[in-house]
Amino acid sequence: MDGGKKFLWQGVIRHYREYLPIKKDDCIVTLLEGNTPLIPSRRLAAEIGKNTEIFFKFEGLNPTGSFKDRGMTVAISRAKEEGASAVICASTGNTSASAAAYAARAGMKAIVLIPEGKIALGKLSQAMMHGALVVQLEGNFDEALEIVRALGEKYKVEIVNSINPYRIEGQKTASFEICDVLGQPPDQHFLPVGNAGNITAYWKGYKEYNAKGKTKSLPHMNGFQAEGSAPIVRGYPIKNPETLATAIRIGNPASWKSAEAARDESEGVIDMVSDDEIVKAYKYLGRNVGIFCEPASAASVAGLFKMKEKGARFDGQKIVCTLTGHGLKDPDNAIKFSEPTLKLPAKIDTVVNALQLEKR
Ligand SMILES: *Cc1c(COP(=O)(O)O)cnc(C)c1O
Repeated sequence: MDGGKKFLWQGVIRHYREYLPIKKDDCIVTLLEGNTPLIPSRRLAAEIGKNTEIFFKFEGLNPTGSFKDRGMTVAISRAKEEGASAVICASTGNTSASAAAYAARAGMKAIVLIPEGKIALGKLSQAMMHGALVVQLEGNFDEALEIVRALGEKYKVEIVNSINPYRIEGQKTASFEICDVLGQPPDQHFLPVGNAGNITAYWKGYKEYNAKGKTKSLPHMNGFQAEGSAPIVRGYPIKNPETLATAIRIGNPASWKSAEAARDESEGVIDMVSDDEIVKAYKYLGRNVGIFCEPASAASVAGLFKMKEKGARFDGQKIVCTLTGHGLKDPDNAIKFSEPTLKLPAKIDTVVNALQLEKR
């Protein structure tokens, strides 16, 4: 068909070129990330308010299964423009998976530092499969990031954590996509907060579209930390952050100040949710919406439930919740929080008995 090619998705850099700091076309490193679906849920909307509309921005459908790919395509492309041959990051898991994949694509070496025993199995397998040099550090994410900062200063290796401003640039494209699909920003945006790069990026994206005259309003940004890892809510760094939502197990977020700015400028909130509330939302999404996200992602929906319970009204509003990563990243938690499977002998009578199906 004539001109069909222009309808093909070519990744966030080519699609949003004028908003992104990439100059050389032949240095673009992409796995065609972005263009993730905005999935509506009438069922949840009916629970939350009258004439409320709710959409999930399902970032688990990016090439490596999380939103980190949006920032990584820009960070790695920039590193390529600058002639880098190696990249490094500290990670709770998804940054390392994404860095490893994009580095492999670019023909670069990837070094990833992860907290020992505290990353979900799927993420570890990704970094390994993409050939990264994986260092399991006897420490937490915050300590790993400190080491990465020091190495990046002294050695020939590009840092691709979200302290790299190109990561934030790429991640802001999720806001553009939401505005492009809805025709306007939502009234409320909910998302989990870990190192706080994503809330910073979304807010930057919404503001840029607004400044360009593409949209006429701005959403309230509502970010949620896990109770055991809630430095922004408590107002001080957490030395030993804990939560089963390992992607947000961060005690001293790199983008702390800009997250607070996003909250204040948008008249939103940054609050915390307990692991129990996270698991409740995680299971709700799996069972009632049909979306399998990872536990950290469900903090956005847990936050929405919490605000509703505390008396917030969302009647007539459009709400977007970002689901940051795919549930397959963390099969251990999925199995842990689900009903056990049945084990039966391969005999029709026993199976019939156990299933209690109605006769035709
Ligand atoms: C990285 C990550 C987060 C936290 O995002 P920040 O930008 O660090 O606040 C949340 N959920 C998932 C699945 C992630 O990979």
